[in-house]
Amino acid sequence: MQNPLMDTWTEPARDVPVAGRPDVVVVGAGCAGIAAALASARRGADTWLVERSGIAGGLATVGLINLLLTLDDGDGSQVVAGICQEFVDRLDARGQAHYPPRSEWASEEPEVVDRWRRWGLVWGAPESVRYSVAYDPEAFVDAAYEALSDAGVKLRLHTHCARAVTAEGRIDAVLLESKRGREAVVPHIVVDTTGDGDVMASAGADFELVPIPPHLWFRAGGVDVQEAEAGRSWFVTTGKGRVLVPWGPAAERVDPCDPDDMTRAELACRAGARAAFESLRGDVPGFADAWLDDYARMLGITESRRLVGDYVLRKEDADLRFPDAVARTGHWTRRQVVFDIPYRCLTTAVADNLLVAGRCISTTRYVHQATKEIPAAMATGEAAGAAAARAASAGVAARGLDVSALRRDLAAAGAIVGGPA
Ligand SMILES: Cc1cc2nc3c(=O)[nH]c(=O)nc-3n(C[C@H](O)[C@H](O)[C@H](O)COP(=O)(O)OP(=O)(O)OC[C@H]3O[C@@H](n4cnc5c(N)ncnc54)[C@H](O)[C@@H]3O)c2cc1C
Repeated sequence: MQNPLMDTWTEPARDVPVAGRPDVVVVGAGCAGIAAALASARRGADTWLVERSGIAGGLATVGLINLLLTLDDGDGSQVVAGICQEFVDRLDARGQAHYPPRSEWASEEPEVVDRWRRWGLVWGAPESVRYSVAYDPEAFVDAAYEALSDAGVKLRLHTHCARAVTAEGRIDAVLLESKRGREAVVPHIVVDTTGDGDVMASAGADFELVPIPPHLWFRAGGVDVQEAEAGRSWFVTTGKGRVLVPWGPAAERVDPCDPDDMTRAELACRAGARAAFESLRGDVPGFADAWLDDYARMLGITESRRLVGDYVLRKEDADLRFPDAVARTGHWTRRQVVFDIPYRCLTTAVADNLLVAGRCISTTRYVHQATKEIPAAMATGEAAGAAAARAASAGVAARGLDVSALRRDLAAAGAIVGGPA
């Protein structure tokens, strides 16, 4: 019998059923996790994709961050392709992607810049047109389910990864929690694409975490977009008369891994976003008959736990060509800056069968501004998924992988990996 007045409670030990022994388990079905699972399954690995919510996409869909910024270097050359480009094509095929043609990339022509600024695709100074894409978030979800199903990924929604169980420098199992109860999954390789780095943190990896002010984007319908002047406070988006409002940041900073902070922020951001909508409706021409369509179902958390992995990518690394680069990205507010992302930004000494991808990879806060963006997150996800499948098939640890062969494999599949020419 435990003393109910103690500050801690000893959870009784119990046996949990093993739900599966896949080659690869990807935890977190945001844009990075989707890309990781696709890259893994397409290479023949038995792949699970586990997601705590009832829908895939994370910030890129339920977070309403439906702008891919950016797939180019600001100078007219594409630097992210692979699965991210495939998604642009899939969205395009559904008539749900809006982006400048190649002939307009890097243009500073005021009329062209104005046209794409209205879509939220022009940032930084001097202003220029980038290869960035506005899209419909529901179409992104549909495209993801279609691709995941075709690739044979086992998608498990409504399932939270509670923790990783480690021994002797590797993850032996991940423990899942759902309405069905607790289950173990025993994979060869784990990919952490939770955005918050839940798996790597519970495996004991070093990370950085700073309090940040959250956002809450929302969409409004019934707007006369011809009369209203799009700018920085709202953008035209998919759907006639619908606009995207990038509300935030909130005044108060939160710890994104603290549920009490996050609960307070949910309520405060919702009130702030509602007030912003009311003032648009009251003050801005074209909004008089508007209604609030939907708030993002996921708070806009720009950064959470960041891995301190085998290499931490820094500002000084801009334009360095790493021999073990597995992805490349531009910077959405800066032109002619390109970061190669070394494989070592995805790995950690704490568990040699763990790869980290998406917004929680190992970078400084400065570089995170570039690597957190959806195209870059999909590129690191794709690299991690390909690496995981190769490691599983060779029966080796992710850290021991032949990165040159991985780079060739990714490039052959259409990814831009960076590195020496
Ligand atoms: C306000 C704001 C504006 C932004 N603007 C842009 C922009 O204009 N263009 C752009 O390209 N990028 C932008 N970004 C960045 C971009 O949206 C994100 O960094 C990117 O979408 C992150 O993708 P991800 O897959 O790494 O993580 P996430 O999207 O966070 O996905 C993580 C997934 O893991 C799930 N998950 C978390 N924990 C667990 C767990 N323990 N078990 C199971 N599942 C779990 C989550 O539910 C989620 O689905 C912006 C971000 C913010 C916040």
